[in-house]
Amino acid sequence: MHERQGAFDVVVIGAGIAGLMAAERLAAHGQSVLVLDKSRGVGGRMATRRIGGAVCDHGAQFFTQRTLGFRDVIEHAVRDGTVAEWCRGFSRDGSIAADGPAVADGHPRYRGARGMTDLPKWLAAKLAAQGNGIEVRTGAKATSVAVAADRVRVTIEGQDGAVEVVEAAGCVLTAPVPQALDLIAAGGPLDRMDAQAIERLRTVDYDPCFTAMLVLDRPSLLPEPGAIQFGGDAAGPVAWVADNQRKGISNVPALTVHATGAFSREHFDVPPDEVAGMLIDAVRPWIDGDPRTAVVERSIHRWKFATPTKILPDPFVAVSWAPPILCCGDAFAGPRVEGAFSSGVAAGTMLADRLAGAGR
Ligand SMILES: Cc1cc2nc3c(=O)[nH]c(=O)nc-3n(C[C@H](O)[C@H](O)[C@H](O)COP(=O)(O)OP(=O)(O)OC[C@H]3O[C@@H](n4cnc5c(N)ncnc54)[C@H](O)[C@@H]3O)c2cc1C
Repeated sequence: MHERQGAFDVVVIGAGIAGLMAAERLAAHGQSVLVLDKSRGVGGRMATRRIGGAVCDHGAQFFTQRTLGFRDVIEHAVRDGTVAEWCRGFSRDGSIAADGPAVADGHPRYRGARGMTDLPKWLAAKLAAQGNGIEVRTGAKATSVAVAADRVRVTIEGQDGAVEVVEAAGCVLTAPVPQALDLIAAGGPLDRMDAQAIERLRTVDYDPCFTAMLVLDRPSLLPEPGAIQFGGDAAGPVAWVADNQRKGISNVPALTVHATGAFSREHFDVPPDEVAGMLIDAVRPWIDGDPRTAVVERSIHRWKFATPTKILPDPFVAVSWAPPILCCGDAFAGPRVEGAFSSGVAAGTMLADRLAGAGR
């Protein structure tokens, strides 16, 4: 085991949009930051995958910007060619004709120029470009978070199985809340943590989500703008279906199909391939021809913690202030990409202030 003390002021666990924004705020205030993510790349649930010749967004599908801070970042990302406007609304009615109008409500819906991971990749690159004292490390899984004297002690397992312990003055946890609580529990007795905060965090809950990605041999029959948003409480099994080619990120037609929370819970332990068959049947009206030949490749992903169903009103929650350990992400103060962004900004700003105060 390799021990590192004092190399970073703060360890941020998770390189989704919340973690990257928390790190950005900390770095802007002169703190050195290690951002860890267990996945091979950054972005978390803003995820894009290649399947054969197709590119599919398989987590978040689009985002809105209604708050000033997010608007500034998105305007910058649009100017840089990282983000593009997709449309101003979606049909919520699957019966709409293939050439029928989308439901426009005036709010721009944005996408990554080449996929939803573009925005987090852009943020991570800007962070890394700040140089000394900032590291974004992927393939690095935090396995516990503990308090040791007045420091936070994070145990990290690399993809090669090597274990490292890093001590820092503060920590930001952005993993889905049940996973964040597991990390804290793995750190040992909770007597140094705020019991009330832990109890409140235990009330957070998420829906799972099955995502089917279907590469087609011909254009889909989806109405403009290439997607239907049935919604999470839809009567059928499907909450969302989009054609990634029509969206502008794939060279070939490929559908992303999200199941509803209710369907995903009910079928959580059903073999994924069987679930893929059910979702194909449900989106058959928008596949031109027999799916047995029109679907040339398919892949299914099961998100265990897809979207929060019970969130907390606070922008973040501190499980400890001495040393500071803050939980943030899309389960705080507002779900979805924009909520996760705001939560990360709030946690990073508060922690930077706190650490600057401690250093005075
Ligand atoms: C299927 C689906 C559809 C969605 N659709 C939309 C949509 O259309 N619009 C919208 O706005 N939002 C949508 N969302 C929600 C949106 O993706 C999330 O709200 C947002 O991306 C959450 O960001 P985050 O940073 O809080 O968490 P995440 O993106 O989950 O980031 C957390 C990160 O922590 C990492 N991590 C976890 N545990 C550890 C560990 N032990 N060590 C190291 N790293 C760890 C994970 O790998 C992950 O990268 C959707 C989500 C899903 C799953």
